[in-house]
Parts: sequence; C-alpha cells; structure tokens
Amino acid sequence: MQYALLDGERREAVSGALGTCPTCGASMVAKCGPRIIHHWEHRGRRNCDPWWENETEWHRGWKNLFPESCREIAHTAPDGEIHRADIKTPTGIYIEVQHSSITDAERTSREGFYQNLVWVIDGRPFRQNFDIYHMLPDPTSRLAQDLVWVKAARSMAGTSSGTFFRVSANQKYYPGVTKATLRGGLIEGLDRIKPEVEASYRGHHQYHWASPRKTWLDAACPVYIDFGDEWLVRLEVYDETGLRCVRLVAKRKFVHDAISEMRAEDIATRFYPLA
Ligand SMILES: [Zn+2]
Repeated sequence: MQYALLDGERREAVSGALGTCPTCGASMVAKCGPRIIHHWEHRGRRNCDPWWENETEWHRGWKNLFPESCREIAHTAPDGEIHRADIKTPTGIYIEVQHSSITDAERTSREGFYQNLVWVIDGRPFRQNFDIYHMLPDPTSRLAQDLVWVKAARSMAGTSSGTFFRVSANQKYYPGVTKATLRGGLIEGLDRIKPEVEASYRGHHQYHWASPRKTWLDAACPVYIDFGDEWLVRLEVYDETGLRCVRLVAKRKFVHDAISEMRAEDIATRFYPLA
C-alpha cells in the first residue's frame, strides 16, 4: 500500500517506519529498498482487503495521476463489508487499476460493491494479442445507421481495412431489410467512403483480441485498457448488430473527466477543449 497511518496521518513509507493500516488498524511495516517501490505491508500477515493486488510501478503511476486525497480510499457497504479502492475521485467515481487476471466472480463482486466504478486494465502483458484496425464512424451518425460492418479478424484477410454492407444499397436484393437483419449482399470497402468516415470519427475502431481475458468483455462497468501510451482503449459494443469495437480516449481526457463527471459511464462522452 502507498499509505499507512503514522501519528494519525496518512504517510508514504519511509525506511524503518512502523505504521497502522487505515482500514483495519493492524500494524504495518515500511518496505523500502533500492529495487522495490516503497510501500507498506501488513506485518506478518496478508492484506486485510482480499481484493488487494501487489502494487507495481504501473499501479503507483496511475494513483499518482490523481490528488493524494483520492488514493487508497476505503468504502464500506451498508452490510459493513469494507474494501479499499485504488482511486476514488472527488465526484465519487471509483477507479480500480488491475494488472492481473481476475475471475468473473471477483469482477462481479467488485462491480456490485463499488457500483460507480471504472476499470483500468494493464494491457501491456497482452499487447501482442490485441490488434486495432480501421476506424469506424460515430455510431450515432446518420452514415453509421446505413452500414453493417463485417467483423474484422486476424484470420480474415481484408477485413482489417474495413468492409461493410450498406442497408440502402441492398434493398433491391433484400426488400425490407434493416440494419438489424442485413447479414450479406453487395459488399463495399471503407476506401470508398473514407472522407465521410473521417468526418464523423470519434475514436471508434474495429479490433481483434486473440485469447481475450473474457471477463472484461462481460463487464458491467466501463473497461479501459492501458497499453502504456497516451491513449486508453475502451471496450464497447458499437451498434445494434452487436459488433464489438474499441474507442480510443486520451489518458488526459480520462483523468480530467474522472474528476469532473459524476458517473463512471459519462467519462469521455462529452467533448470540449481541455485547458
Ligand atoms: Zn489492514
């Protein structure tokens, strides 16, 4: 943990110090060495929060993007259950930064417990399994209403550059067909409509995730993947065809919105210039 109580105040670990866990009151030992991130550990026993994950530089980097008063904040449920969120923003959004895989059961418990929660997943361990393909138009645009995209995949050459069926163009072959029912017909390539797609682009792309960590695809709370650069990759369902997509969100925008929006799902939904 980054913080323990020392003389009643939250403090970071300093060599040789003994503190108290702000959650359970047990004594804590400062762990400070040249090759480890300085942190606190419960003395001689496991962390009082079974959801707690050993901190890495990556965790610490994420916590440090937020004010000190937002980090490692305990939340108590009405039934008395208590856990410590990695980050709780001043507007009440909980952010869990997760490096290792977790089970569906643990994901569901944590979503139920925090409710107004957003996940940030460390994507670096599976970067090689994750391809990001062609851009998609804003799903709310008029253009998008007329297009049914072919799911892009590593194994299907050509799909990664964008192929689609146009509902209007296929009416003569399938009278009465709608976006929800059209699954074939005259096929077209993204190249033909690229300027229109670019004009309504809002960060959406097709992707392929080989050997996915499936629990994140089923998550009820928003999931953002951090591949270690300035963009986060949000997992989304694109449209009523059920096509999954990703949306690129600047990390700066995410942090800004997490401390200004009230609800986790409103992060990166409103766009205006950032100071
Ligand atoms: Zn404790």
